[in-house]
Amino acid sequence: MNQACSVALVGAGPGDPELLTVKAMKRLQAADVVLSDDLVDPRVLALLRPEARLLRVGKRGGCVSTEQRFIHELMIRESRAGQRVVRLKGGDPFVFGRGGEEIDALRAAGIDVEVVSGLTSGLAAPASLGIPVTDRRCTPGVALVTGHNGESGIQPDWAALAKSRLTLVIYMGVARAAGIVQALLDGGLAADTPAAAIAAAHTAKQRQQVCTLGDLPAMLQRERLASPAILIIGQVVGLSVAYRELLEQLSNDPSIAQAG
Ligand code: SAH
Repeated sequence: MNQACSVALVGAGPGDPELLTVKAMKRLQAADVVLSDDLVDPRVLALLRPEARLLRVGKRGGCVSTEQRFIHELMIRESRAGQRVVRLKGGDPFVFGRGGEEIDALRAAGIDVEVVSGLTSGLAAPASLGIPVTDRRCTPGVALVTGHNGESGIQPDWAALAKSRLTLVIYMGVARAAGIVQALLDGGLAADTPAAAIAAAHTAKQRQQVCTLGDLPAMLQRERLASPAILIIGQVVGLSVAYRELLEQLSNDPSIAQAG
């Protein structure tokens, strides 16, 4: 690879640096400039060479499109200046990470792009609770879905997903959980379908809770589970130890169902 005119688009995984790929680690430790998203764990950033320049280009509200253009220009400028550039993204760069748009901009500028896959939070988060997302006894597969696709993105068809029997792994869903749950119930998914929310998975701040689909919005508020979080809905959640414990608690003390 000609380092002088290329950018590595690297997935940082969900948090724990031990979940980085070997290739991601190599690219990080060779980088001159790293453009990092907000979601990247500080323990991953600590792996950079002391001489490397770290540019935090996370989008904190503001005008997203302008900032995205700014990121593209920065990557192009730095790589043309002969710097070894890494564009570092939480999880996998091609799963809700706008990696596709960044590749388009770089290629249009004649810059090579190497994509280094990362472990996406939508798979790593349920794994941390022992939830087997494609267990064939419960589901034909898993859908990775956004709860929020901006004004211009294609919106999920919740009614179709409700009927699909797929495990639903929902990114960016906490703020819209009430609407999503209502749409799934309207689509015919049973209110007692097992569900889980996992916030900041594989970081020092990880918190999680299992519940039923019907209780999910109230549970998120009660437990103050906030972004970044993954919501998981489907019978596979029922296979986890945490969910079995919840059922046991409910059968021993039905008042928990009301009190939460
Ligand atoms: N490319 C990322 C996703 C970026 S979209 C990936 O593959 O994981 C941002 C959303 O990802 C967050 O709103 C949240 O839903 C989810 N997310 C990212 N990191 C997370 C983590 N450590 N724990 C839980 N959810 C996470």
